[in-house]
Amino acid sequence: MHIPDIIIAIDGYSSTGKSSFAKIIANEFGFLYLDSGALYRGVTLFAIEGGYIDGETIDIPALDKALDTLDLHFGEDGTYIGERSIEKEIRSMEVAGKVSPIATLSQVRDFVNRKLREFGDAKRVVMDGRDIGTTVFPDAELKIFMTADPLVRAERRADEMRAKGIEVRVEDVLANLQERDYIDSHRDVSPLAKADDAIVLDNSHMNMQQQLEWLKGIIADKFDC
Ligand code: C5P
Repeated sequence: MHIPDIIIAIDGYSSTGKSSFAKIIANEFGFLYLDSGALYRGVTLFAIEGGYIDGETIDIPALDKALDTLDLHFGEDGTYIGERSIEKEIRSMEVAGKVSPIATLSQVRDFVNRKLREFGDAKRVVMDGRDIGTTVFPDAELKIFMTADPLVRAERRADEMRAKGIEVRVEDVLANLQERDYIDSHRDVSPLAKADDAIVLDNSHMNMQQQLEWLKGIIADKFDC
């Protein structure tokens, strides 16, 4: 199947498999995959390591200023700060526990959006996040909004983390993803929301192959290919 040069925006709740799905799509259609959450996680790691977070308090003016010096980018093997690969650190529970408050800050969102939009001209891009179809690329030609049963999501994420050698309890993962969903959906700037023209995918009872078949059906209808 050859699909036209489009941007595919994949948004949805935490741990619904957005990035796994986006990677499969990228591979299937020869698209570039971009993980916007990784940049929010990267800023969060930077804020933790730089001492800009003290308990619940974020030193916003200092972080804002420091962002000018932050060389956060995608590289060969995921996400980097300068030359340093931060792929493992940004997936930790510590970063997961602090990323949503950091992602409420308009300064941080502007910083990340500037980086994401640089890829827009390339087309043939699939990007996943929370506000890709609503804010980053509101004109994306195809928008998917993903959801799934919270317990299914927590179990899947816990399995993924264990496979990477990170020991976690399903209850903790569930609490973290529900907290992130709440903060993400209720923030003032670009809250997590389904774009009016997004198509909902509930994958609670679907495997990856079924999701890909579903998507191919949508693409065939929409783009006549
Ligand atoms: O996608 P992932 O779970 O890695 O994203 C981590 C966090 O980054 C989300 O919980 C959300 O707070 C934030 N995020 C966002 N907007 C995006 C992508 C991620 O606010 N486009």
